[in-house]
Amino acid sequence: MIRIGIDVGGTGIQVGVVDKEGRILQKGGIVTRTDLPFAEQVAQMAACALETLQRSGHTLDDLESVGAGVPGVADYRTGIIPFCTNMGWHDVPFRTEFQKHINKPILIDNDATVAGLAENVAGVSAGASSSVFITLGTGVGGSIIINGRVWSGAHGVGSEIGHMILELDGEPCTCGNKGCLERYCSATAIIRMAREAIARHPDSMINTLCDGKPEKINAKMVFDAARESDPIATKVFRRYISYLAQAIASIIQFFDPEVIVLGGGVSKAGSFLLDAVRAEVPKYILYKTLPYARIELAKLGPDAGIIGAAMLQ
Ligand SMILES: [Zn+2]
Repeated sequence: MIRIGIDVGGTGIQVGVVDKEGRILQKGGIVTRTDLPFAEQVAQMAACALETLQRSGHTLDDLESVGAGVPGVADYRTGIIPFCTNMGWHDVPFRTEFQKHINKPILIDNDATVAGLAENVAGVSAGASSSVFITLGTGVGGSIIINGRVWSGAHGVGSEIGHMILELDGEPCTCGNKGCLERYCSATAIIRMAREAIARHPDSMINTLCDGKPEKINAKMVFDAARESDPIATKVFRRYISYLAQAIASIIQFFDPEVIVLGGGVSKAGSFLLDAVRAEVPKYILYKTLPYARIELAKLGPDAGIIGAAMLQ
């Protein structure tokens, strides 16, 4: 039996035929058309899935299920997507609509959740009995996988790691609270900290890398300057690592998972980031002499969305 995984994104939709071990057998994709009505978007997605299935040499009889990871809130129990702003979806019956085209079990979940599941099946945390995935991008998302299955909480909205509060009366967050973790641990946070720093220290290498235009700063520039030992970039980097390490230590303290996986755009900084995090986390660990979670970088890259969606059950 094979499964289909769909990675729904604001610019493109990737489809993959995936085997039980998480190997992609065939891929397809379409451009996202948010200008179309929801039903038509789903029809195009299903058509792409069927076409990809056919190219893989399989038929509907071989197909066990279709899973989709969406960049928003997805209710895995009802198959309804309450919010998915990037796609312009509000309270849309994804499962019911999709089953009009492919009458198989249709599973949905949030994209960070499925990326974490993918790593647990075929990636860096493969086979771990428990893992926490943290995606460090424009925001911060996360997922909890226990015994190979997603734990979404009693009401389906758990693992919102990005909105755990890290700082009392801290930076305002898009969610309405202040001091949320994603205001300190996202790429957006690195950029904000760098802009604040170069306003006071315009001689920083970050200012050279962004051609003196703070609006052009990205996380990579800050990491690049820190790698070159620029003192201001190093200070921003250390501050970022300190927040991230405290967040990770809190997860370890509370949940004690086997593995913590870091993904998302910021994780592309590779061993420079990972080594710093691994060195910093023990400072905040409660039981320093006892074993604690392995901290790793995600390794599946852009295919994680397809693989994880296909593994939903
Ligand atoms: Zn928040």
